[in-house]
Amino acid sequence: MTHQFPHLCPEEKKELSDIAQRIVAPGKGVLAADESTGTMGKRLQKISVDNTEENRRSFRDLLFSSDPSISDSVGGVIFFHETLYQKSDNGKLFPEVIKEKGIVVGIKVDKGTAVLSGTDDETTTQGLTGLADRCAQYKKDGCDFAKWRCVLKISDSCPSSLAIAENANVLARYASICQKNGLVPIVEPEILPDGDHDLQRCQFATEKVLAAVYKALSDHHVYLEGTLLKPNMVTAGQACPKKYSPQEVAMATVTALRRTVPAAVPGICFLSGGQSEEEASLNLNAINQVSLHRPWNLTFSYGRALQASALAAWQGKAANKKAAQDAFCKRAKINGLASKGQYKPTGSADQASMESLHTASYLY
Ligand code: 13P
Repeated sequence: MTHQFPHLCPEEKKELSDIAQRIVAPGKGVLAADESTGTMGKRLQKISVDNTEENRRSFRDLLFSSDPSISDSVGGVIFFHETLYQKSDNGKLFPEVIKEKGIVVGIKVDKGTAVLSGTDDETTTQGLTGLADRCAQYKKDGCDFAKWRCVLKISDSCPSSLAIAENANVLARYASICQKNGLVPIVEPEILPDGDHDLQRCQFATEKVLAAVYKALSDHHVYLEGTLLKPNMVTAGQACPKKYSPQEVAMATVTALRRTVPAAVPGICFLSGGQSEEEASLNLNAINQVSLHRPWNLTFSYGRALQASALAAWQGKAANKKAAQDAFCKRAKINGLASKGQYKPTGSADQASMESLHTASYLY
């Protein structure tokens, strides 16, 4: 007979569930600004800006010091370790800048992927060693949620049962450790969009992965009300010759989620996964218009699809700061509307927002 030894008291559960609800309150989503130093370097390289600590700080400062109305559409910001201890131009620590706006501070706690031997280059995610201590420190330093990204891929033989089981288990271990330390875990099992598979293949893989993740979370006694899910949308592979409408993507996505994600989970915040900014907004909007019951808040936790226009407008020049902030606020507002199914595109989306942001085998 299974027996659960209670590990979270009612007050701890309430705190976790309150944090999760604040992050995904109606009309709000998450800004994923937790690019590792290497990934940020690739972003900066595109606009010919050197990957120095100061340039990374400047760009994050620009995002974080945007107009306070940003908190109408952004409920949480995910930080990378380095950024958590940097200061804004006015000398304030970034977590303070974010908290003053009423936005919840989060932190990426995984340490990247590692290959699973004996598989077709599938991976698991590292970072459990010392995780409890790091979570306790991050909580003291102002964080209230965390992110851990696992990566799966689709091919004739992938995702394998081994990759599904291993990644589900490590996500559950991470989630349980976070909760014990007062952090809401964002559980991210990302299925990459690389390949030429169709929509149905992605839906099938997404259902198998999510079913395994929720079985593992149950096995590890994770308190679902104090978690958030960050999945891929169900889309065809980047190289699939057939193109699907936002309505088709939305129906496949909501169907997969309804079959696998318990209603106790307060929010599901999608990653953008290389979609263009506009595509990611249109798909999220369509998801929130599907005529099926959706017991969770369905919103965004975008990295690339919230920052691409801002980076393009900035170009590393202080004189462009305001234009870059305007571009970021515009995307955040559009995604806030899309999370309520209320985005009405004007048909005049600019070039930068339509560009694909896909990179093969994307590392974060
Ligand atoms: P993208 O929205 O750029 O896919 O990134 C989100 C993220 O945080 C991946 O872990």
